[in-house]
Amino acid sequence: MRLVLLGAPGSGKGTQATRLKEALGVPHISTGELLRAAVAAGTELGKQAKAVMERGELVSDDIVLGMLEERLGQADVGNGFILDGYPRNLAQANALDALLARLQQPVDVAVQLDVGTELLVQRLAGRAQQEGRADDNPESVRNRLRVYSDQTEPVIDFYRQKNRLICVYGVGSVDEVLARVLAAIEGASGKS
Ligand code: ADP
Repeated sequence: MRLVLLGAPGSGKGTQATRLKEALGVPHISTGELLRAAVAAGTELGKQAKAVMERGELVSDDIVLGMLEERLGQADVGNGFILDGYPRNLAQANALDALLARLQQPVDVAVQLDVGTELLVQRLAGRAQQEGRADDNPESVRNRLRVYSDQTEPVIDFYRQKNRLICVYGVGSVDEVLARVLAAIEGASGKS
């Protein structure tokens, strides 16, 4: 199963991806986590990404694609993957499409977690207190939500036009949302 998870910051992508990984038996690949690991390790790439991430802007497409390509080349992705945080704009969506076509491993399904803006802001404020992530400050959160609606929302249409999109209501307990996602994936794979 090759799955792309789409959703605004705070929509629960990371949480659901962790659970889906267990349920589907495929690795969870989060470009945000790969970047945070590079920042923590102090690599050249991490140094370049750090300030951009703290402002809530997008790291350059080239850097993220290179990092992703390397990750997708590892042995554990043979049975598929859950991609979280990528693609984040149309250029990335096209790059991923080309990369996966070359690997003969196209995306099976894109799942969009649908959560209203007010709840997103509340959740991100809560996370800022609990986890203290450098990009959960109010200014950066506003930026990330703006980047999402300007640049990432068009990616939803990209997958809709390819008949690969499933929209799942993302409000409720983690278990409820997980059950909805699994049911939707099952329904979609039954169709094709
Ligand atoms: P969230 O979606 O909650 O903001 P992520 O962990 O997915 O958190 O991403 C954190 C930050 O990492 C983003 O704001 C951005 O700066 C950077 N980032 C993650 N994925 C990408 C990507 N595909 N392209 C560019 N930048 C990215």
